[in-house]
Amino acid sequence: METKNTSKPTPKKALGPWIAAGKCLCPQCRTGKMFKYPAWNWFKAYDMHQDCSVCGLHFEVEPGFFWGAMYISYAFGVAISVVAGTITAVMLQDPDLWVYIVAVITPLILLSPQSMRYSRVLMLYLFGGISFRG
Ligand SMILES: [Zn+2]
Repeated sequence: METKNTSKPTPKKALGPWIAAGKCLCPQCRTGKMFKYPAWNWFKAYDMHQDCSVCGLHFEVEPGFFWGAMYISYAFGVAISVVAGTITAVMLQDPDLWVYIVAVITPLILLSPQSMRYSRVLMLYLFGGISFRG
């Protein structure tokens, strides 16, 4: 007896909001990418798409919306500085001032693309007023 596979292909399950935010995906469809290039592409890491390529959501929900992301980016910078300074103090047993400066500024510079990207993502997810439509 021949059996036919009559089941329809199941639709792709939507990602959870934190996973979608971690992958810098659109908050409305959780599928389209917010940024044009990956974070490791240092000079183009900041380029965002104007609209979502999947659902068409305009990412800048109002003019100047992403200016608020500076506050989130500032919080990221403080957190990175505190962690780097604490690790330096614990690992090197209270070194000279210049060691602290280098140990704090280096990760701040290296992580600046991620900080900027995730501050924009969090700004859109938390304050954009956009609900998920799968
Ligand atoms: Zn979308």
